[in-house]
Amino acid sequence: MRITFLGVRGSTPAPGEEFLRYGGHTSCVAIAHDGETPSLLLDAGTGIRRTSSLMGGEPFRGSIMLTHLHWDHVHGLPFCDATDRNDARVTLFVPDQLDGSDPLEMLSRGMSPPHFPVRADELRGDWYFVSLGASQLEVEGFSVLVEEIPHKGGRTYGFRVSDATGTVVYMPDHCPSALGEGPDGLGEYHPAALSLCQEADVLIHDAQLLKEELAAEAYFGHAAAEYAVELARHANVAKAVLFHHKQNRVDDDLDEVARRFGATPEVIVATQHTVLEL
Ligand SMILES: [Zn+2]
Ligand SMILES: [Zn+2]
Repeated sequence: MRITFLGVRGSTPAPGEEFLRYGGHTSCVAIAHDGETPSLLLDAGTGIRRTSSLMGGEPFRGSIMLTHLHWDHVHGLPFCDATDRNDARVTLFVPDQLDGSDPLEMLSRGMSPPHFPVRADELRGDWYFVSLGASQLEVEGFSVLVEEIPHKGGRTYGFRVSDATGTVVYMPDHCPSALGEGPDGLGEYHPAALSLCQEADVLIHDAQLLKEELAAEAYFGHAAAEYAVELARHANVAKAVLFHHKQNRVDDDLDEVARRFGATPEVIVATQHTVLEL
């Protein structure tokens, strides 16, 4: 399995020279089976625009799974050259909000006039819109566990994605302190988080906040970087990848974040150039 980070920023894109090394595109991660081009994209933040650089001129033919519908996870969707072309084929999994809306209707609340000129079903290529509940399913040859996790403002999922070579867990937006302080004040190590993460090779997790920011800012629905690392430790995950960086956390600040942690588990502060092979 190859995991390519295409956008690692949280909340809103962060352009500018002080963000160049870690990157300013919002959440998107591409997953490929060994030796293949990516067939699974997790979230469609502005980083999804970079998918075409992985496709060797070919269209994307695969699935996009959205953890939730906040702007920073969907706003790249209409601007991705690899998916908006006549020969593309995309199955888009949209989190079921349990209000009876069909997936296209739900997406169109944010992507249709007057908010935006184009609806998702007007993108070029063959698009299929699928409602996603908490479940275990097969997607593009990957086994995917979908679990609801606490965030803020809309149903939000974490994903556990496996193939024969390994397992990666993706939890870009997660507010464990919504369930209580937990044993160390960082939030609860709750059953959904633990079942997603147990014995995985890699955990890609919300690191929007630092522990000293939690008291004032957990209200916005995010986790501290320290929680991400501790969750990896609790669930026996070898690598914790800090992700969904705060929009104003510049490169030098993110270098400092990396220095907070010891050797076990291995901690990687994601850049939009990070590639992991399992
Ligand atoms: Zn987000
Ligand atoms: Zn969010």
